Formats: sequence, structure tokens, C-alpha cells
Amino acid sequence: MRDNVYFYPDAGGLAFPPGFSCNTVLLTGRRHMLIDPGLLKGWPDLKDRIRADGLQPDDVGLALATHSHPDHVEAAAEVAAELKAQLAMSAKELDFMDAGRGSPRRLEDSPAEPPASELFTPVFSGPFRWEGREFRLIDAPGHSPGGLCLHWPERGLLVVGDAYFAGAIGAVDHPGGRLADLSRTVRILGGLRDVELVLCGHGPPVEGRSEVFRNYQVLSAEIAEKAAAGL
Ligand SMILES: [Zn+2]
Repeated sequence: MRDNVYFYPDAGGLAFPPGFSCNTVLLTGRRHMLIDPGLLKGWPDLKDRIRADGLQPDDVGLALATHSHPDHVEAAAEVAAELKAQLAMSAKELDFMDAGRGSPRRLEDSPAEPPASELFTPVFSGPFRWEGREFRLIDAPGHSPGGLCLHWPERGLLVVGDAYFAGAIGAVDHPGGRLADLSRTVRILGGLRDVELVLCGHGPPVEGRSEVFRNYQVLSAEIAEKAAAGL
């Protein structure tokens, strides 16, 4: 998409209906960072697509999860075991995942179980260094309480998970979801002035500074409407 940025929409391809699995992002370097590996059933397809881009899945050194919903992280344990890659998720989301494990409410919208939290290294918001590159992790509660976004200022890139999409905010009716939190998250993310490419957990990217700005206006309007309706 841009230097060192690869985007795999609906990882899992034909294994799932569109939108069922998540979008996966791969940031390349000496070792690669994979963001949201998706559903386990989609992992072979994702590896094929990575190879088709002339890259080696074996070179993935880190798999970062934006949040704990299984459509984003079910394959994480396999990624760790097969590629010897480190797994990372926000400390807050790991606590949430642990607290929710086994609860039927937690899983009602989820196609599968999340992986064991012990597999993950907890990470926190703030500067995040990987392979000599400077990223920033940003807390993004609202869709899930410990949601995390990855900002790569050098590339004008923001990876938002399910915090929002092109033209719509993320769902806030999952366990731990809250419109007031998402409203604050969207305000914070909208304040990043250098973002030119937003990669969302589902659906198309938001590309170009003016589109990124226009999208925030759409999101703010939706949030205001939902807040007024008491949702
Ligand atoms: Zn989600």
C-alpha cells in the first residue's frame, strides 16, 4: 500500500463470507509485524497471500492484536507456535479477556474462542519501538475496553482495529463496549494531524488526508445521533 505496509482484506478469503474474518495488516522490516492475524481457519490463506507478495510468513517476529475479539485473534496461538513470533495485546484488554473467558455473553457475537491470555506480552499506550522503527500505541476503548490503535507517524499510517470504519463507528454493544468511551477515542484519533491512511479491522481503508478528515465528520455525526438517542 505504501512502503512496508501490506493490507490483507478479510483474511481467510474464501473460507468465510465477506466481513466475517478481519482485515490483517503486515508491516515489513528485518522482521515483520503482523496486526490482527484473524480466524484460525483463515491462517493458511493469509500465509499464501503473504507469500504471493514475495514475503515470508516465517519472518513475522511480532503479532499485535488491536483487541481480543476472536475474529481478530483466534489464529494468534498458531502464529506464535508456527512462526516463533511474539504476541502482544494491551494489558487492559488481556485483563478483560481473562475476566470474560467462558462467559456466554462474551462470546455471543464471536465465531470462536479467544486464545489463552498467557501467550501474550502485555503492552501499554505510548511510544512503541519495533525493529528500530518508532510507532505509537494509542488506547482506544469503546468497541472493546482495552482496544489499541497503532500509529506510524513516519508513514502517516493509523491502524484502528474495530474502533471505527470507513463511514461508521465500531459496534459498542459488545460486552465492555461504551459509546462515551468511543466518542473520546474518536476525538483523540481525529486529533492526529499527520494521518493519511487509516486501516480498519473490517471494510476498506480510508485514504488521503481529506478523506480521513471527512470520515471523522461522519463518525462524529453518528456518535452525536446515537448519544442523543440514548444509545
Ligand atoms: Zn471487534
